Amino acid sequence: AEKKAMSIQETRQSLPIYEFRDELLEAIAEHQVLVVVAETGSGKTTQLPQYLHEAGYTKGGMRVGCTQPRRVAAMSVAARVADEMGSRLGQEVGYSIRFEDMTSDKTVLKYMTDGMLLREFLTDPELSTYSALIIDEAHERTLSTDVLFGLVKDIARFRPELRLLISSATLNAQKFAAFFDDAPIFDVPGRRFPVDMFYTQQPEANYIHAAVTTILQIHTTQPKGDILLFLTGQDEIEATEENLKETMYALGDKVPELIIAPIYANLPSEMQAKIFEPTPEGARKVVLATNIAETSITIDGVVYVIDPGFVKQNNYNPKTGMSSLVVEPISRASAQQRAGRAGRVGPGKAFRLYTKWAFKNELLQDTIPEIQRTNLANVVLMLKSLGINDVLNFDFLDKPPAETIIRSFELLYALGALNHKGELTRLGRRMAEFPVDPMLSKAIINSENYKCTHEVLTIISMLQESGSLLYRPKDKRVHADKAHKNFIKPGGDHFTLLNIFEQWADANYSQQWCYENFMQYKSLVRVRDIRDQLAGLCERVEVIIESLPNEIIPVQKAITAGYFYNTVSAHYTFSTSVPLSIYKSHISGALDDKGEGSELTLQARIDKGGGYRTTKNNHSVYVHPSSCLIGMQPPPRFILYYELVLTSKEYMRQCMPIEGT
Ligand code: ADP
Ligand code: MG
Repeated sequence: AEKKAMSIQETRQSLPIYEFRDELLEAIAEHQVLVVVAETGSGKTTQLPQYLHEAGYTKGGMRVGCTQPRRVAAMSVAARVADEMGSRLGQEVGYSIRFEDMTSDKTVLKYMTDGMLLREFLTDPELSTYSALIIDEAHERTLSTDVLFGLVKDIARFRPELRLLISSATLNAQKFAAFFDDAPIFDVPGRRFPVDMFYTQQPEANYIHAAVTTILQIHTTQPKGDILLFLTGQDEIEATEENLKETMYALGDKVPELIIAPIYANLPSEMQAKIFEPTPEGARKVVLATNIAETSITIDGVVYVIDPGFVKQNNYNPKTGMSSLVVEPISRASAQQRAGRAGRVGPGKAFRLYTKWAFKNELLQDTIPEIQRTNLANVVLMLKSLGINDVLNFDFLDKPPAETIIRSFELLYALGALNHKGELTRLGRRMAEFPVDPMLSKAIINSENYKCTHEVLTIISMLQESGSLLYRPKDKRVHADKAHKNFIKPGGDHFTLLNIFEQWADANYSQQWCYENFMQYKSLVRVRDIRDQLAGLCERVEVIIESLPNEIIPVQKAITAGYFYNTVSAHYTFSTSVPLSIYKSHISGALDDKGEGSELTLQARIDKGGGYRTTKNNHSVYVHPSSCLIGMQPPPRFILYYELVLTSKEYMRQCMPIEGT
């Protein structure tokens, strides 16, 4: 233990920020707001809170808070710092992320997502238990971080003893300083080795394939050093992992060992540790990461970076009022950050899977801040509940489009959260208690009218995890898909999700059951935790949890009360294979001049790609291939969906037919 403690101290002292420890503490004592800029991996996130702790900022039960845009980063950094301080995670050092609180009365260093700190304003508007706040990874410009800027700037005025650190990778520092009334900038010079850039000659049609090829080339021809590959999400990471494993298996003993370490938001925390384990001599590690590895977490030992040039983000169109998850090209600033990850331990190489021309001509210079490309209903509801009435004139670092704010007002009004004067209603106040989208909180509260809160809570909790629920290993995919089919309910995907959870509950939440039914145990456990928390919040806002088992319509009504904007209707065309009479009841009206007995049939066979139109703007959308509505005959006329994803087409994920409600 002695030896380990020593080496941890040595590691801490080897970080670039360490040389500036005392100077930093002096600057913090002198200035209420300080912008700290340093290269990724300098030690900002792990060291700054500890320096403040060592300098006495946590005396008398006060806390130091440090925000992170991503929950994986909050968890992993807190674990690391607990380790460095020789204490157990959740004691002196803890973290708080949505639906998971790993802190205690003893916690003095608290890592949390920016969204969680925002929510703390609801219970303690002055954040009176904090002596210092570090708004970390400020350059990421997430929606919550941007809103936090305005709020912490405000409380700093009447809490002169509060210290604020705005910490950022080497981007945007001037802008932050200007926003905080010309706060000083503390620049920690980084150590950075040169990185050689390589581009592809032609655009790559399939970047996963290209990435796997590049990994193998590096592995077989390049000197030692780990590889970091940037992908856009869990499915891509899993596909790449499988592809790599197969290829490595085929190569057998001909090549040295390749350790594959994935990292993404939903990866269980005990598996996250794998990316930090030192690579054994003779082997090479390849980390398959989402954007999280761009600046939020640093993996030591990376010498090669592979950058396909894409990121998955949420885009909102205020004209249509629709958000969708989209895979988009990254910005040049982001590409530079990614490449920089290769030059931390020595000279490195970055392989960009796009052309030099594309880099120069097709990428935007900077990533557009989230506040300018996302739905703001949640934020508006939050600001309203904090008593900030003039949302349009809130002190934003960059103003969101006025149109988006107006859309949010419209939605909140339609949901009944705001009245016609734009004031928060009692319903709105209750909705704000829930850390979920206003459309979901409306559905939860509305379910009390139909006495089916029990079922709605389960469905909503399942929706939060629905992306990672089903286990579909490649070698047993047929079995898995067959097992999953058993859960399908005529009420649609929402009821299928409900059915899965209830059967698991009947099986005493067992792991064995998950194994037999090809479900991800960890995801279901998380669903249960989320559900418990939402149920607790129901109690707080006095929603009585009643149950209405085996009934579809009331549950559909409750969900529709929140999700009426996400409804679409089929656009039918005709073809000739099935007798028309089957569909008659569903298309009366549409058929007036066709006549009964005709051989015409509906072609809105959703498995053949028949589309649906959104009610608001006649935009075409399609049922996602993972939906249980695929192949349903006759195809439903009206569908309510949970979210849109844009791939080759705009797909609706998690759909329910709402015929007859
Ligand atoms: P910055 O915030 O400036 O980017 P960090 O404080 O995150 O820098 O990282 C400092 C060092 O701590 C890095 O060398 C990083 O690899 C290490 N580190 C951070 N988290 C972990 C972890 N969970 N396990 C092991 N090492 C970690
Ligand atoms: Mg950091």
